[in-house]
Amino acid sequence: MVATASKQNYDVVIVGGAVNGSSTAYFLANNPDFNGSILVIERDPTYAQSATALSSSSIRVQFSNPINIQISKYGADFIRDFGNTMQVDGEKPDLTFHENGYLFLADQKGFDVLQRLHETQLQNGAQVDLWDVDQLIQRFPWVNPESLKGASYGRADEGWFDNYGMVNGFRRKARSLGVEYIENEVVDILREGNKITGVRLTNGDVIRCGTLVNCAGTRGTKVARMAGLDIPVEPRRRSLFVFDCRTPLEGKVPLTIDPTGVFFRPEGQFYLGGTYPKVDPEVDPEDFDVLHQEFDEEVWPILAERVPAFEAIKVVNSWAGHYDYCVLDHNAIVGPHNEVTNFMFCNGFSGHGLQQAPAIGRGLSELITYGEYRELDLNPLSYQRVIENRPFLEDSVI
Ligand SMILES: Cc1cc2nc3c(=O)[nH]c(=O)nc-3n(C[C@H](O)[C@H](O)[C@H](O)COP(=O)(O)OP(=O)(O)OC[C@H]3O[C@@H](n4cnc5c(N)ncnc54)[C@H](O)[C@@H]3O)c2cc1C
Repeated sequence: MVATASKQNYDVVIVGGAVNGSSTAYFLANNPDFNGSILVIERDPTYAQSATALSSSSIRVQFSNPINIQISKYGADFIRDFGNTMQVDGEKPDLTFHENGYLFLADQKGFDVLQRLHETQLQNGAQVDLWDVDQLIQRFPWVNPESLKGASYGRADEGWFDNYGMVNGFRRKARSLGVEYIENEVVDILREGNKITGVRLTNGDVIRCGTLVNCAGTRGTKVARMAGLDIPVEPRRRSLFVFDCRTPLEGKVPLTIDPTGVFFRPEGQFYLGGTYPKVDPEVDPEDFDVLHQEFDEEVWPILAERVPAFEAIKVVNSWAGHYDYCVLDHNAIVGPHNEVTNFMFCNGFSGHGLQQAPAIGRGLSELITYGEYRELDLNPLSYQRVIENRPFLEDSVI
């Protein structure tokens, strides 16, 4: 089903209305200095196949880049206060933030990296503890410490939350502030020289715009190419597995990451887990096949070794989604194209786009309104580094 917009001209058109599109729409509409009109065009308002809906919905401050730490600290504060900020007609959405922390387990090599990151994290206000094996076992006795040297644990601002709740909260609030959403697909972008003038929709409608924001997630590269632009972003499959454990782990269990990249966290009465795949090709964004052998061959053996209680587990659910993976440096590309300056990128989140949505939406709204960032300088994420082929590497990738 496609819908027609109420007007033919908007100050800002946002392509993709999942978490980043809706966050950007909300922050713009909520900014008293922005007086323009906003249209969000979303091809599938159920979001069923968006990364937002298929995410493991977690947030951490244990990054290597100061900007990523600050983005997530802002995200954690925003999540905690989401109900108050997003309330409409007295209804306060609750994102049920499970602030259980992230636990990075490390062998000798990994521990050297954790020690290096620890200083940066502390300097940027992250509440993180670095433990030797004895401290680790004392706190989480269900971990088998074999081959481990230590661990890093986030005491605050880390955990998991309701992903659908976040996108729905942003969308509902944005609408209440006057943002228009339509179900339709952008199939072409109109450009005159270095200026984007509008978009063409699947039913042939043409909408004119002052600024276009590309929040098309795993289709972000396709949308950029409609304007003759390119970004190093590819859809990469991630399979997630929900499993039942006969003997549940006791106490507050964090999102735990083995040195191999295998991770798990509680999911209600079950656990959710997966891995960073060893072979990681670009995939068709329509391909949602779960790699079951990944669980059998890579995930379960490590889980069973690292947590003896996980020897007896049973998969009860699974799904696959796609990272919009930035092959340059695993970091988001945010802000204008250097020449086509009214084309804004909001792409390449590489597995941390849900937690980053509040800070990124706020940043883009500042950029569109004032022509500069005000609260948090997101310039390290700009498109300039793509032109210069200058990676802004993030060492802590999951
Ligand atoms: C398995 C998995 C686990 C993850 N775990 C985490 C995590 O723990 N923490 C975290 O922070 N992040 C995580 N991520 C990443 C995070 O989910 C994404 O980075 C984030 O949701 C991206 O949001 P988005 O709004 O930019 O894009 P998407 O959610 O991909 O949405 C893009 C939207 O654009 C629409 N669209 C596309 N093309 C068009 C078009 N031409 N016209 C109109 N509409 C269009 C789509 O329908 C879609 O709704 C995970 C991702 C996956 C797949």
